[in-house]
Amino acid sequence: MNAEVIAVGSELLLGQIANTNGQFLSQQLAGVGFNVYRHTVVGDNWERMRTAFEEASERADVVFVTGGLGPTQDDLTKEVIAELTEKPLQYHEETLNNIKQFFAKRKRPMSANNKKQAHCTEGSHVFYNGAGLACGMADVYKETMFILLPGPPRELKYMYEHEVQPYLAKKMPQDAVVLSRVLRFFHIGESRLEKELIDLIYNQSNPTIAPLASEGEVTIRLTAKAQTATEANHMLDKTETLITDKVGHYLYGKEKDTLPVQVVKAFTNDKKTLAAAESLTGGWFGKHIVDVPGASAVFEGSLTAYSSSAKIKLLNISSQLIDQYGTVSKECAEAMAEKARQQYQTDVGISFTGAAGPEALEGKEPGTVWIGIADQHGVTAHELHLAGSRESIRRLAVYYGCWFLLK
Ligand code: ATP
Ligand code: MG
Repeated sequence: MNAEVIAVGSELLLGQIANTNGQFLSQQLAGVGFNVYRHTVVGDNWERMRTAFEEASERADVVFVTGGLGPTQDDLTKEVIAELTEKPLQYHEETLNNIKQFFAKRKRPMSANNKKQAHCTEGSHVFYNGAGLACGMADVYKETMFILLPGPPRELKYMYEHEVQPYLAKKMPQDAVVLSRVLRFFHIGESRLEKELIDLIYNQSNPTIAPLASEGEVTIRLTAKAQTATEANHMLDKTETLITDKVGHYLYGKEKDTLPVQVVKAFTNDKKTLAAAESLTGGWFGKHIVDVPGASAVFEGSLTAYSSSAKIKLLNISSQLIDQYGTVSKECAEAMAEKARQQYQTDVGISFTGAAGPEALEGKEPGTVWIGIADQHGVTAHELHLAGSRESIRRLAVYYGCWFLLK
């Protein structure tokens, strides 16, 4: 089924707000097997809305429209659909009662405009709004289903999850089960990953293979359509194997298992403990690990030693070492990792030191990072040359730290 999303609202065109509703709907729809081919943003203008709806109806099986269901004069979505379908607008009784009760409870007068939020076209399917007042609705225009949803993201999300999704599930062909799976990769860029998988990506349409890059990592979403869940899962397994045969080295997790989550899982499984000494990352590694529920079973703590004097005072790094090698060095990273391991008495100690920029530090270019790892076998340090802003360099350093702990 091919779908389009139309976001209505002049504030979107003026750049006052971002179209997060479009993003939310696309993410959801991809997961249930819709191909979203186009996003449109249109202002609160009768003629332009009408044209946008008509054009979309010529291309799409389903059109999702967000915004313009409210009580004010510029909220026109239902009125425009009523004109197109040549159907009268009626009040949905249950929604109207809810609106009346809402105002009665607050002892506020209800204006005629507020009743407008209970409008729906004759014979349409109505979606209840559990997070606001205006009901949504689904109606058909020239064989295209129009699904009208409220603009406020909280209301949209509620209505989509509680009302629209079950409605669509009933409408989808009964023999179609759509399952998706997310594979997470690190230390490989999106273009390289795509190059490795180019034949698979372009020659197969079920499951579809969709790569997505975000900072530091690339995810691949596989979506399979089949008659049964077992069959869909089997297809996902097969495609996953084809992918891991080529780039399995870079795969670190699946679904919502981020790098810090995987670190906590791995240390929990191995019954090992972890501590950190952080300079460059200023406590960010600790934060990422502590964000994971269950971190307390494996994580002892993180000591932030940002200045050279803090490294000397708190970590007992010798001033000679710092004078000789500098703080952005293999020697300093290794000493910090060892000290973290000793001070916290853990199985593993990790350290982060480097130049986050924008200026060079100790003659080292911004992005020069050393990550030390100390365990029962000894201590090693990894050198990285990262690109990006101060924030991205520090964030990437944290992810690389997790990556090295997992390798
Ligand atoms: P209301 O009853 O609040 O008027 P509505 O259904 O008429 O709801 P709009 O008036 O179009 O919706 O938008 C209301 C608010 O919802 C906007 O001011 C904005 O904050 C938010 N909003 C609308 N559309 C979007 C969108 N596409 N993405 C993110 N937020 C949006
Ligand atoms: Mg409005």
